[in-house]
Amino acid sequence: MNIKQTLDCVLNFFFPPRCESCDCVLEKDSLALCPDCRAAWENEKREICRHCGKPHVFCDCMIEDYRYFHLLPYHPSGFESVSRNLILHAKERASRYLIRFEAKELASLLRSRGVLSHTYVISFVPRSHASVLEHGFDQSELLAKALAAELDFEYAPLLTHEGNTKQKTLTANARVANADESYILDADRAFYARGKRIILLDDVVTTGASMLACAKQLRCAGAAEVVLLSLARTASSTK
Ligand SMILES: [Zn+2]
Ligand SMILES: [Zn+2]
Repeated sequence: MNIKQTLDCVLNFFFPPRCESCDCVLEKDSLALCPDCRAAWENEKREICRHCGKPHVFCDCMIEDYRYFHLLPYHPSGFESVSRNLILHAKERASRYLIRFEAKELASLLRSRGVLSHTYVISFVPRSHASVLEHGFDQSELLAKALAAELDFEYAPLLTHEGNTKQKTLTANARVANADESYILDADRAFYARGKRIILLDDVVTTGASMLACAKQLRCAGAAEVVLLSLARTASSTK
């Protein structure tokens, strides 16, 4: 047993892992969710996408002309769900159990949808500086790193977020304008992106404006392909 494994054992003894949704103490070997919450999560993945009429895990929706994959719907208000609990927790605390669980789920989604016939670079849609300062981390960055490790792909932080206006405070049209000027791909990273196949990750997609603004920059820089990926798609989204 190496030092990290020993430390994990000690930490798990004093602070046993808890379910990321209902907070009960987890049985040994269960990752992030208790059996009941896990069953609810699997059910939520089977909910029908209202845009294409298929379960979210089989959703065939494109965002403009980009292939787009996600696991489940995000209901910002209304009934409580395991997926909403997980998404809200992931924004507030950097739980390694939760990130590992989400990365494994995304990896198996990509495998099952036949996306992995090529080698991809994993990148992400960054949070604003103000948001990173407030929360202390960027959940999409942590998830992108974990997904890259899970798939044995390269991880590359390609874009920076220079704007400080929060997308969720804006209308759909204002989101597009704000997103277009908020994300920066500098010359070195643009050079790196050239010819690469890139999976661009965001935790939740609502209108898709942020995702598209980043994807277009990668394509302009000469990326061979940009695939969009999120944990969830806001169910009330009309686009
Ligand atoms: Zn639970
Ligand atoms: Zn769909």
